[in-house]
Amino acid sequence: MSSPALIYDLDLPEIQSLVASWGEPAYRAQQIWHAIYRDYWDRPEAFTNLPHRLRSRLEDEISFSHLNPLAVQQSTDRQTRKTLFRLPEGQAIEAVLMTYSRRNTLCISTQAGCAMGCVFCATGQMGFRSHLSSGEIVEQVLYYARLLHGEGKAVTNIVVMGMGEPFHNYNATMAAIDRLNHADGYNFGARRFTVSTVGLVPLIKRFANERRQVNLAVSLHAADDNLRSSMLPVNRKYPIADLLQVCRYYVDKTHRRITFEWALIRDVNDTPEQASRLAALLGGLLCHVNVIPLNPTRLYPGQATTHERALQFKSILESHAIPCTIRLRRGIDIQAGCGQLATGMV
Ligand code: SAH
Ligand code: SF4
Repeated sequence: MSSPALIYDLDLPEIQSLVASWGEPAYRAQQIWHAIYRDYWDRPEAFTNLPHRLRSRLEDEISFSHLNPLAVQQSTDRQTRKTLFRLPEGQAIEAVLMTYSRRNTLCISTQAGCAMGCVFCATGQMGFRSHLSSGEIVEQVLYYARLLHGEGKAVTNIVVMGMGEPFHNYNATMAAIDRLNHADGYNFGARRFTVSTVGLVPLIKRFANERRQVNLAVSLHAADDNLRSSMLPVNRKYPIADLLQVCRYYVDKTHRRITFEWALIRDVNDTPEQASRLAALLGGLLCHVNVIPLNPTRLYPGQATTHERALQFKSILESHAIPCTIRLRRGIDIQAGCGQLATGMV
């Protein structure tokens, strides 16, 4: 027998057809939608405005959770909280809440593991396990939305930068964003999402053509193909020239700024030479560079850059009129930093 449908996998029209097939009036679908996305209820028995027969049918035939929270860790500065969830098939994922600068930023996963194999990333080091469904992506947000709601707070930003490559699971990722963006539901503004990709060129093109308002971040990390291919195997398929070309296409189409991400690794990609080459690559492009000192992972021996080197890198970019921000490392003590999420079977 197939497992019951996850309610967060369904759009409003799909919930409408479901309740219609049960002989219920159409407005019941909207009540369910509001209960989930406005009132943050997580089980049908709490939907007290629905008749008992409908609540029990929902209970029996629909799943209201695929994510089983197994462990919660909080960083010592109490600003980062990471939750490990078990998925129905035994895979596991993590999602991270960062609370600082008056923001409650959520970092969510789109896959268990990742097929892209970037050498310095703990998720890449574990390999690909499975794609998440759109509903499983949505449920990570609802989990934290409920939690924050209980504290009188709300999620302010969502970064799709957790485990996995969102553009390798493109349809589910965009469906999840659309569902969370629904005006009559959670109504989370498209501009408050940021999706980060390792650089899957055809999908960046598709994303550009769809003219989404979601922010785009591209993980660059190196300014020449030899170096980038040694760190990000995907570069052999989509080399830097192709990647930059599609980034220019994106900016032309959308007039939106791209963020380039760069994990600074001592004596690997933190040199003045790499900074100058990067500046040459990005000349004239509406963009911003986010550098972050490398976070440690189990299987990569590289070291984080020094503070002086990071400042030097930034100042070289700025001398070419390319804005650059040095991001602080956060949540390192609980392995919740960029590239540190990794799970086994649970
Ligand atoms: N797969 C997507 C999004 C998830 S990774 C992507 O690669 O863009 C989120 C960001 O963390 C990416 O920019 C990634 O390159 C970066 N990252 C990976 N490992 C890291 C590490 N050890 N230290 C710092 N950043 C890292
Ligand atoms: Fe996957 Fe992103 Fe990690 Fe690369 S950096 S292995 S694309 S999650």
